[in-house]
Amino acid sequence: MTISRVFVRLLKMTVLLPTKKTSESEKVLPLIPIKNLVPFPDVEIQLIFGRAKSMAALLHALEHDPNKLVMVVAQKDARIEDPKPEDLYQFGVICRVEQVVQVDGTAHSLFRGLKRAQVKEFLATKDFLQAKVAPLPEIVERDEEIRLLADHLSREVKKAFNLGKMFDPALLMKLSGGVTASELVNWVAFSLDLPVREKQLILESLSLKSRLKRVIEKLAHEINVLRLEKSIEKKARAKFERQMKKAVLEERKRAIEKELEKMGVESGKLDEIEELKKRLKAAKLPLEAKKKAEYELKRLARMSPLAPEASYIRTYLEWLADLPWDKRTPNKVDFREAAKILNQDHYGLKQVKERILEYLAVMKLRQMRKKARKDKNGEVNILCFIGPPGVGKTSIGRSIARAMGRKFVRVSLGGVRDEAEIRGHRRTYVGALPGRIIQGIKNAGVKNPVFMLDEIDKIGTDFRGDPSAALLEALDPEQNKEFSDHYLEVPFDLSEVFFILTGNVVDTIPPALRDRLEIIRFSGYTEEEKFQIAKKYLIPKQLARHALSKKELEFSDEAIRAIIRRYTREAGVRELERVIASICRKVARKIAEKKKNKFEVAPKDLLRLLGPRKFNPQLKGREDEVGVATGLAWTQAGGDILFVEVALMPGRGRLILTGQLGSVMKESCRAALSYIRSHWRSLDLEEEDFAQKLDFHIHVPEGAVPKDGPSAGVTIATALVSALTKKPVKKDVGMTGEITLRGRVLEVGGIKEKILAAHRAGIREVVLPKGNKKNLREVPAKVRREMRFIFADHLDQVLQVALTKIRADRH
Ligand code: ADP
Repeated sequence: MTISRVFVRLLKMTVLLPTKKTSESEKVLPLIPIKNLVPFPDVEIQLIFGRAKSMAALLHALEHDPNKLVMVVAQKDARIEDPKPEDLYQFGVICRVEQVVQVDGTAHSLFRGLKRAQVKEFLATKDFLQAKVAPLPEIVERDEEIRLLADHLSREVKKAFNLGKMFDPALLMKLSGGVTASELVNWVAFSLDLPVREKQLILESLSLKSRLKRVIEKLAHEINVLRLEKSIEKKARAKFERQMKKAVLEERKRAIEKELEKMGVESGKLDEIEELKKRLKAAKLPLEAKKKAEYELKRLARMSPLAPEASYIRTYLEWLADLPWDKRTPNKVDFREAAKILNQDHYGLKQVKERILEYLAVMKLRQMRKKARKDKNGEVNILCFIGPPGVGKTSIGRSIARAMGRKFVRVSLGGVRDEAEIRGHRRTYVGALPGRIIQGIKNAGVKNPVFMLDEIDKIGTDFRGDPSAALLEALDPEQNKEFSDHYLEVPFDLSEVFFILTGNVVDTIPPALRDRLEIIRFSGYTEEEKFQIAKKYLIPKQLARHALSKKELEFSDEAIRAIIRRYTREAGVRELERVIASICRKVARKIAEKKKNKFEVAPKDLLRLLGPRKFNPQLKGREDEVGVATGLAWTQAGGDILFVEVALMPGRGRLILTGQLGSVMKESCRAALSYIRSHWRSLDLEEEDFAQKLDFHIHVPEGAVPKDGPSAGVTIATALVSALTKKPVKKDVGMTGEITLRGRVLEVGGIKEKILAAHRAGIREVVLPKGNKKNLREVPAKVRREMRFIFADHLDQVLQVALTKIRADRH
């Protein structure tokens, strides 16, 4: 607002109308109502008028009264623009108009309060209100109490001023110069921060004492409020200052860190050490490890963060902190529960399950007895599952973990040749890490998991040390309480770990280790078993995995069998599971795309879902042929059938061998040929010197797959004899057995797998070494019933069965 600095003293009071006098004390005065304020005697009141009526009243006083008196009363409700008598308080103050300044249609005026007065009668004129007013007598008690109260009040005023209360500066000046009690109380009452109603009460109270008391009380209240405000403000300011300070310091810290980073120094080193300390404490290290950790922590703290070693120490300490030194899942073995879980998760495998339960029972007994008697003799063997891939070794391991309420980890040992892979590298190596055992334990996060070590048969030994020795130390319950890993440098207790080893064959397991194993053999499944497994386990499992319901995807029994026959050839069910999963994927996509909401897979759908069949029945389309014999083979992936082919050509008795034959198999070929050359007569051959005129080519498809072992001896010999005598070999007779130079047939391994493979391939007649008769028990009865077995101890007996009687050229 711009207030005009032109100061107009309104002194044109030439026409002086004397104010009407009604009685001695009563007079009629223009009435000025004011909003939000209560007038008091002795006080200067600044008012701004905008209302026409007020302006007219003011003008009237200025023009008609030499004393320029008006009656000022407070308005009861500030919102009323044109107040009537009832809207006004009756008690007010007779004031003198001291100054008026006109600014933009408003009048800024200064009044001086003179005397309390009461409106006796409101008198309306055309332009403004007038009132008949009677000045009120002031009761001024003159006693000690008044003086004391007044002194107190003036002290309180100073206090309030110091706390920040705004007072009219003139009042303060007067305070130091000396004021009457009545003046003081009027001034203070006017300045108090009170509602109009309460101030009016003070104005209306005629006794000075009571006014003093009232004002003191109200001021004291105001002082309290001020104090409170001040302390709140102080607190707020302190808080604000703290925040400011923090922000500034943080900003500075960031700047410093940035500079340090530029210099290649890692920041937060101290935090990091504290953090590591905390983690190590939480890991509850055993004494020796704790000492080591403390030593390394000190080293790290002393070290310049620039030193490359600092990061190695940090990694090392992190390893110590992450290992489950003291974490385990509760141990429980409930046999009934364990048996239930094993059965729930797996079809068949009856013997395997029984062996496992026996093993668990022995383990438990041993633990109990050992605790009681503290006897340490007697070795516990380590459980080892041997069998072709996909027969459930891993998943039985998982079930064991589930049955015992333990965690499960799995580490493969395939291709491990170096002791350091088991036991870790010493920390002096760059990039050194703990070995696979400790890594597995860290992954498990507990010190008592079921720990499966796969491909135990594929570890080797070379100049870098013998991994099997390190492995034995880790597995041996007598030694593994203090397993030492080169990287950790402090022993870790592996004695609560339940180790299970797995492999495909036993032969290649290092002998020292083999001695300590409790071997449980898993064999391949028959077609019927595969069918049951697929129907009851694999399909439900894959449906769940693909979020499909039983109703959305159904497999007919014929479809399952067709999948097994045409799309898989394996001892286990891994490929079968994969094929089922691929069908589920395709169906899930169709359902998600809303192309269809229900599928029933029949054999005719397989071509569309899986493409052309992968495997043909192996014997189909084959004729009885000269020089081709059907052998039964055993590989790491289970049993299979193979064909040995012999071709004769003019030559000088050379032996040509193809089809990736191993050295033992090559020797079998030589032995077979030698036997034939020395027994030509009994074999019904026509010439003695056939071997000088011919070259012999022996080939075993499929050429890309390496084959070895002595058990193809009888098959090779049969194919050779067939080629020489021109008598075809019956294609659906399978055979296996090693031969000696004298023609004896020796027993071989893998009979069960071989017979299952032969059965899968549709062979119903099998020639076996006599020595293997005992192995027939392992073969499922259903398969046994469907096949015929001939036991031979001499090649003659084999030929008798395998060769047709009539020579092909005489046919
Ligand atoms: P391995 O470890 O012997 O190579 P896996 O345990 O990986 O074989 O088995 C492959 C798949 O076949 C798994 O999904 C497993 O659950 C399933 N499986 C194998 N045998 C059975 C069985 N007897 N009953 C149910 N499922 C089985």
